[in-house]
Amino acid sequence: MTFFSHPGDFDVIVVGGGHAGAEAALAASGLGMKTLLMTQDLDTIAQMSCNPSIGGIGKGQIVREIDALGGQMAKNTDCSALSVHMLNASRGPAVHSPRAQCDKKLYQFAMKRRLEAENNISLIQDEAVRIWTEGSRLKGVVTLRNTRYRSNCVILTTGTFLKGVIHIGLLSFKGGRYNHPPSDGLSPSLEELGFKLGRLKTGTPMRLNGRTIDFSRCAEQKPDDPPAPFSHFTASLENKLLPCWITHTGAGTAAIIRANLDKSPLYCGRIKSAGPRYCPSIEDKIVKFPHHPTHHLFLEPEGFETGEYYVNGLSTSLPEEVQTAVVRSVAGLEKAELVRAAYAIEYDYCLPQQLDYSLQAKIVPGLFMAGQINGTTGYEEAAAQGLMAGINAALKIKGLQPLILRRDEAYIGVMIDDLISKGIDEPYRIFTSRAEYRLLLRRDNADLRLMDYGLKLGLVSEKFKRPFKIYKDTVEKLKLIPQPSSLIPRFGEMAPWTVEKAELSAKTETDYAAYIARNNKEAEKLKKFEHVIIPPGLDFAALKGLLLESRQKLTKVRPTTLAQASRIPGVTPADMQLLWVHVERMGKRRGGVAI
Ligand SMILES: Cc1cc2nc3c(=O)[nH]c(=O)nc-3n(C[C@H](O)[C@H](O)[C@H](O)COP(=O)(O)OP(=O)(O)OC[C@H]3O[C@@H](n4cnc5c(N)ncnc54)[C@H](O)[C@@H]3O)c2cc1C
Repeated sequence: MTFFSHPGDFDVIVVGGGHAGAEAALAASGLGMKTLLMTQDLDTIAQMSCNPSIGGIGKGQIVREIDALGGQMAKNTDCSALSVHMLNASRGPAVHSPRAQCDKKLYQFAMKRRLEAENNISLIQDEAVRIWTEGSRLKGVVTLRNTRYRSNCVILTTGTFLKGVIHIGLLSFKGGRYNHPPSDGLSPSLEELGFKLGRLKTGTPMRLNGRTIDFSRCAEQKPDDPPAPFSHFTASLENKLLPCWITHTGAGTAAIIRANLDKSPLYCGRIKSAGPRYCPSIEDKIVKFPHHPTHHLFLEPEGFETGEYYVNGLSTSLPEEVQTAVVRSVAGLEKAELVRAAYAIEYDYCLPQQLDYSLQAKIVPGLFMAGQINGTTGYEEAAAQGLMAGINAALKIKGLQPLILRRDEAYIGVMIDDLISKGIDEPYRIFTSRAEYRLLLRRDNADLRLMDYGLKLGLVSEKFKRPFKIYKDTVEKLKLIPQPSSLIPRFGEMAPWTVEKAELSAKTETDYAAYIARNNKEAEKLKKFEHVIIPPGLDFAALKGLLLESRQKLTKVRPTTLAQASRIPGVTPADMQLLWVHVERMGKRRGGVAI
């Protein structure tokens, strides 16, 4: 076969222009890397395949963390938001979670413009079909057009596209997302290199023409007033916000679904892979919760310039004619017209235990993976991994230590640790309940936890250094003396941070001081383990004194630190003590981690 070799060499090639890919490219280029973003279709950069909504429980906190580290997602959300709600606002600060419904097209174009404006980023519309290696050395990627692109690092962010198959009723066809081709070449290439792949499933509801919805039969859900911006750097939201609407299914809906279960690919055995349990299809809800007479549905606008509504809560893969009947059994939707059918999709993912904590593949140094390819689901989870992979690819090329966030430092740290040390058996999404130290990982203190990294890396502009320092000092002073008017900086001196924001963070820290102290104490204990590296060749199966179950689990996961070992379900505290003794005896204790 004749290959055309692209004349320019790149430091980093990012494959895929979704949420992970966009953040990865911006992070790598922000750290000075000559970056190529290669994606199948430039018109679908940062497309939201499902609901055009960002944030939610746990996810909202992750978006704030991305922002504090210098990522783009929060800013993009602020400029395209069309409805904003603070979830759990009546509960404790640890679980306050912002969520914004966005204009899906504005979101995409804002991200595309941002990428186009970066001097270090080249964009190319093409499909990677092969990872290019020579021996065990990564050389770059080969594309559908037989072009070889050379680079030091490659970041794969292929989302739901690897061998994607779409299901609507008994109809199945290839696709990475409806109306978009799958990516069929990369899975065999990864398997040839020795990677283990698995298969997962997800689904999306139908979209309706708003003109055909009777909103007078639905309850209005007004946007927050005033709405809180996502980004630390946004003073206020400019868009005029729209309401969402609430309705519910009834006995008629359940009867239609039960009568058609034999046509559901989920129930007739056509779909075998695992889907997200927390985000069940309407078939699942009716079958698994028969005692619930109704299920809430949220009607959410998809844009300022379109009348399409997303029917949140009605994900299904039933045939299209059944979908119409289901929709029309719902209050306010009696005459509703479907403009896009709901569907399910199955796709390949790469088992995340094959990566190290920097998101680099253990068997192919220089190859990173981020987003849905690692078994996660959600734009926010994808964007966070993309950001970390972009940062770590750049740090690797510069010969620096990777940035690895701890579980007590960030939800991003919790997610990556869960993926690497435990793997997944269903699409992974973040929840506040996954974090042991929820009170430390609040939305209001994402900047206090992480912005120093963003500043040090240069992803957060130097101009924010001084205002941020003043802000941090003000929070500390307010914690000691609640209303020190003389200590408060002059108006605008710490902008975009405000005195009210400093007061909120200080008050939360003071009100929950006892719990926060307990969280900090436990986190300190874990940190001790975090710095103990397990020698790479250690034969876990041969360790004396440990339970057989612990030895088997350690052998399977092959943890790299004692902290990782301690989080493997089934490894007991007593076995952890013994493992520590063995590791110490090997005389290999040394420091780890981070920049
Ligand atoms: C039908 C459906 C329903 C979903 N439902 C939910 C849900 O309910 N909740 C939820 O949280 N998430 C849901 N998601 C998942 C959500 O869309 C993803 O988690 C998120 O988009 C992942 O981001 P990503 O960047 O990893 O991949 P994607 O956003 O999928 O982007 C991947 C990009 O890579 C490109 N690409 C792929 N292969 C190649 C290649 N070989 N060469 C070049 N470019 C390539 C694609 O064209 C695409 O632009 C759903 C997705 C789909 C398709």
